[in-house]
Amino acid sequence: TDLARRCAELIRDVPDYPAAGVMFKDITPLLADGPTFGAVVEHFADVARRAGGVDLVAGMEARGFIMGAPVASALGIGFVPVRKAGKLPGPIMGASYDLEYGSATVEVHPATIEPGARVLVVDDVLATGGTAAATSSLIERAGGVVVGLAFLLELTFLPGRSMLGTRSLDVILSVD
Ligand code: 5GP
Repeated sequence: TDLARRCAELIRDVPDYPAAGVMFKDITPLLADGPTFGAVVEHFADVARRAGGVDLVAGMEARGFIMGAPVASALGIGFVPVRKAGKLPGPIMGASYDLEYGSATVEVHPATIEPGARVLVVDDVLATGGTAAATSSLIERAGGVVVGLAFLLELTFLPGRSMLGTRSLDVILSVD
């Protein structure tokens, strides 16, 4: 699509960041381009509209906050920050997942998710899928319904998609 092409031009490849052998996708040039950032937000808002009745947008720290909060605002609905461990004052609910070395934990305030609330999960990059899978199961355990996940970029050489089960997935741009 035209939007995918514009995004591809504004994502910078950074070799060996944050570790040797990793090709990091830097989205800051895209964020700094007003029309493209706005079109990405509008695309995610359309994903939510097509999902038919979304009550909340959830975004993962930290770039999911940048992408997700304006989507919630455009739709006139609330935003739920999914934070790294130890950042929320509580009461919290958490979910841990494995990393290549060690593990990570994501946390939410379950009181902000009404029972049955329909939630769209938004983040910048789907890589291994660990963050998205943990976030989805956390939202579901907190009583929400994940109506879909939306990403700017999917790294298709990683098995991220397979971590999400049957949940609906929208990506603007895939790279392999
Ligand atoms: P995963 O859990 O799918 O392996 O990693 C996804 C999380 O790590 C997302 O929250 C995303 O922001 C971040 N991430 C992983 N790789 C990249 C990358 O190359 N570029 C950016 N911008 N974020 C990444």
